[in-house]
Amino acid sequence: MELLTDITIRKTTHSKLYEADLDQLEFGKYISDHMLVCDYGNGEWQSPQIVPFSNLSLNPATLALHYGQTVFEGMKAFRMKDGRINIFRIEKHYDRFVRSLERMCMAVPPKEIFTEGMIKLVDLDKNWTPQKRGASLYIRPFIYASEAKFGVKVSEQYRFIIFTGPVPELYAKPIKVKVETRYIRAARGGTGFAKCGGNYGGAFFPTQLARQQGYDQVLWTTGKENPTIEESGMMNVMFVINDTLVTPPLSDSILDGVTRDSLLILANDLGYKVEERSVSLDELETAFLTKTITEAFGAGTAAVVAPIQTVHINGIDFTLPGYSHESLLNRLKEKLERIRTGIEEDIYGWNLVL
Ligand SMILES: *Cc1c(COP(=O)(O)O)cnc(C)c1O
Repeated sequence: MELLTDITIRKTTHSKLYEADLDQLEFGKYISDHMLVCDYGNGEWQSPQIVPFSNLSLNPATLALHYGQTVFEGMKAFRMKDGRINIFRIEKHYDRFVRSLERMCMAVPPKEIFTEGMIKLVDLDKNWTPQKRGASLYIRPFIYASEAKFGVKVSEQYRFIIFTGPVPELYAKPIKVKVETRYIRAARGGTGFAKCGGNYGGAFFPTQLARQQGYDQVLWTTGKENPTIEESGMMNVMFVINDTLVTPPLSDSILDGVTRDSLLILANDLGYKVEERSVSLDELETAFLTKTITEAFGAGTAAVVAPIQTVHINGIDFTLPGYSHESLLNRLKEKLERIRTGIEEDIYGWNLVL
């Protein structure tokens, strides 16, 4: 591929690849040898550099540490059956990155720097991409406000970084979720659609409470009055009700998940009825009481699908009958995996094969 961006590369002389066991991975345990760094200041982006992965040195007045101007993406590259590397839906991730950055008043790196920088970085560290089925190379692009000044202000300087690391397939043990109406993850008019650090920080406390009560995750709603379902943990949420795949519609309090979008398209093409519509807590409870709900799952890049076994609603644990190979969530997961690894043709243009 002909690249437009001038990217300087300084390679490591001490690769850590031999220390990593790509057959025994844990999520977030290993980071690949290199990172891309690109700074913004005086109204323009500098040339990106790929350098050995290393610590940052930060002035304690760095604005991101105080006022929360930080935005990230989470995406993956896969090893295909022919051995080549595929970066999944890079454009869709870039578009979301831009929307998040705009909401947080942050500088937006040009598309060429994002895509070509990522291609160069992933290509340089391609040997870190695991072979094992379901495993992948996780890619973490992020930007933070790097200006050091302690007044409250929109930063005039930013640093854009991409690093990567091999991750295993997350074991899809069905989880228990607790419907939350006292705390919300995101408010209408707030930053819920943006992938900004603060959304995560604010979600930890209610999640901890749910864990103390024996649940794995929170099932977020719009709050106390007439609650409707929002997301599950840090994933979008989907239900199969009356043989129809149902998921809440996008709004400014729901993150526009790339996995969500991909699964909706695949379900439709597999011949399932798909509905993006709001699901009230009352409807969900009734669906459990009448047994019209057969599946519930989270959808996100890290786990692809996270099957839900139990939903706690107003003091009652409702449990679903378990998932066979024929369940929709497993069919969707399998189909997505086959497209990403080149077993099945990518008729959607989702793969960027290096
Ligand atoms: C990242 C994220 C998701 C999932 O998005 P994907 O693009 O599918 O990984 C869902 N909800 C929240 C709140 C997120 O931050």
